[in-house]
Amino acid sequence: MDIYFTNTLTKKKEKFYPIDKNEVKIYSCGPTVYKDATIGNLRTNIFQDVLRRVLKYNGYKVKQVMNITDVGHLVSDGDEGEDKMVKSAKEEHKSPQEIANHYTKLFFEDLEKLNVETPEIICKATDYIKEMLEYVEELMEKGYAYETSTAIYFDVSKLDEYGILSGINLKEQKSGARVEVDPEKKNPYDFALWIKAPENHLMKWDSPWGKSYPGWHIECSAMSRKHLGEEFDIHTGGIDLIPTHHENEIAQSKGATGKIPARYWIHGEYLLVDGGKMSKSLGNVYLLKDIIEKGYDPLVYRLFCYTSSYRIKLNFTWDAIDATSKSLERLRMGYKAHQQGEEKLDATDQEKISKIEENFHKAINDDMNMPLALSYVWELIKYPKKSKEIAKLLQKIDKVLAIKIDENPKSKPQEDIPEEIAKLAEERKIAKQNKEWEKADKIREEIKEKGYIIKDTKEGIIIEKE
Ligand code: AMP
Ligand code: ZN
Repeated sequence: MDIYFTNTLTKKKEKFYPIDKNEVKIYSCGPTVYKDATIGNLRTNIFQDVLRRVLKYNGYKVKQVMNITDVGHLVSDGDEGEDKMVKSAKEEHKSPQEIANHYTKLFFEDLEKLNVETPEIICKATDYIKEMLEYVEELMEKGYAYETSTAIYFDVSKLDEYGILSGINLKEQKSGARVEVDPEKKNPYDFALWIKAPENHLMKWDSPWGKSYPGWHIECSAMSRKHLGEEFDIHTGGIDLIPTHHENEIAQSKGATGKIPARYWIHGEYLLVDGGKMSKSLGNVYLLKDIIEKGYDPLVYRLFCYTSSYRIKLNFTWDAIDATSKSLERLRMGYKAHQQGEEKLDATDQEKISKIEENFHKAINDDMNMPLALSYVWELIKYPKKSKEIAKLLQKIDKVLAIKIDENPKSKPQEDIPEEIAKLAEERKIAKQNKEWEKADKIREEIKEKGYIIKDTKEGIIIEKE
């Protein structure tokens, strides 16, 4: 089945053709590990995880590379301010490495709780200083970079085009539109590839330009080329990365290899909180642990992310989380009813079920349309006949959803229903269908005497140990 993605590069929804017909290569910009990941950051990780799961559902192997930025990401995108790692290290009275280790560990713990698969390759910027340095030297040799007294800059005027992702037209930009920091910069959009370290700077390495450290953008170009080659399939990140970070990655690649590194650029929209930006000053910066501390399963947040397309802003409210928590419970109860079901599906049922699966598949392949895909999951959950075959299909579908649909609903104890009880439940159901109410009640009593209770819910019959 064809897959479609909205490509920021062409601004169109396009059919996906991988370079290699079996394996899809993805580069995802990872976190700068100087602080806790917010639920906003994690929304981006969830969308990236859905992407790889959708590709796998379609039979592809995936090779995903994600970087961990532990150096070079300055406080401002305009090459201004301190390195975020160094700033955080000073504030927390720790070394940048301690800060990086601490927040990297927390980040991966969050991903695990959200059932986000670990990318095949995780690369830490400070482990690739040599590759980055070689990349900058290459750009220097090819005439795309120049040295000033403070840094090595990329010269955007050397490219036939700069700004292809965000649609900046350099000719139309008034010079000085961006605040100038370094008067030695030749063009306002030139950006730092390598930065000369001031005295006492905490992270610095030897280079042809003295003690210095990499800029943020070069790490992704160097590491993606090293692991995925000069051209790979998909590059992902949050929407905020389009105008600077990804634009600059493209510039670097075009300078070094003459190519745009990825064919498809897929960006996730922002999570809003109470309709606005998350900010420390408003006290509405939420972490996954805040959701867990309120007693919610962390996968409620994952399911909540499916209530809108990854390309649309999503508004976080506690009411929405509460409603989603109930939905997750109902999905798991519905799954359980199928898993305990003994009904046989006839040819008509089979046809209906495969149509629902096809619709689900089409929805996920249509630019990861998760809200639509979920509507088909509900159709399966609510399917009037309760059958293990449907439970099996739901398990397959959960390879994409990753909400652990087969986990026991919170309110239900964990146990397997003995065959004897399942049989009685089936007899009771038939009695009810035949309107033999007395018989149905008697069987319910019998089930009760054997230590089980039977409940009729919207999703079907649930049997629990008393
Ligand atoms: P930051 O911690 O601000 O450097 O963000 C790390 C990554 O998470 C960025 O690349 C963003 O794309 C993404 N991100 C940050 N805030 C949000 C948000 N509110 N919603 C979705 N993604 C976000
Ligand atoms: Zn990046």
